[in-house]
Amino acid sequence: MTIACDFDGVIHAYSRGWADGSIYDPPLPGALDGLRRLLDHDAVFIHTTRDPAQVAEWLTARGFICRTEHDGPFWNQRGQLLVTNQKLAAVAYLDDRGVRFTGWDQAMSALGIKPRLLDCGWCYEEWGEEVHPHPECPIGYTTPPAIAQAEQERDGAYRERNRLVALVAGGLGEQAVVAPAPDVDEPGWQILYFTLHGRQCSWHFSPRDADLIAHFEHVPADDPRAQWDGHTTKAKYEHVDYLARALGTPGPFKDR
Ligand SMILES: [Mg+2]
Repeated sequence: MTIACDFDGVIHAYSRGWADGSIYDPPLPGALDGLRRLLDHDAVFIHTTRDPAQVAEWLTARGFICRTEHDGPFWNQRGQLLVTNQKLAAVAYLDDRGVRFTGWDQAMSALGIKPRLLDCGWCYEEWGEEVHPHPECPIGYTTPPAIAQAEQERDGAYRERNRLVALVAGGLGEQAVVAPAPDVDEPGWQILYFTLHGRQCSWHFSPRDADLIAHFEHVPADDPRAQWDGHTTKAKYEHVDYLARALGTPGPFKDR
């Protein structure tokens, strides 16, 4: 077996870090004895970013037989220490800054690298996928199929209504104008105003149906023709029903 052993922080106490680049500290307690015991059992190399000659000299002064030259990626010789700045094959690496790796999740957590949080502050991105640990997360929430279908049917019904409203506005209506809806938070909503047999009528149009009323005059929200006169939905439809009956009944068109 071959064991790799770091130098600074494992053999050399390295209490002040790199400092001036010299080997300034004594060995860590147990380091020299530990190295000797390792050498009794295994091939050992010192793996350091220092100049290997500097480390070899220090170790030689403490009774070790060192060499700094070798061929290939393996070191199998027992009884003497190889000092190298290359990473050679080993069954184990003793390193004061090593992080044992068993998987990327474990390694990221050992390194204190947290996953990227999403805007909700709870959910995060992991390996390119969004992870939503709490089901009510507004970011991760996707509309359940039944609700999506109901919304589609609702929008479809509104589109049918809006087609007929546009037809009435263009046929029976007078002074039809389209203005932005100030009472809807979502952008793109509009109101179609027109006069129907002397009374103001108005309908909201979602941006989905803007194409149906694109041909009417568009005015700003403060245009006098686009001011709601306070009519309720109930009153509006009573007027519509009245007109429908009046138009469908033979005889002279009666004023209400
Ligand atoms: Mg070290």
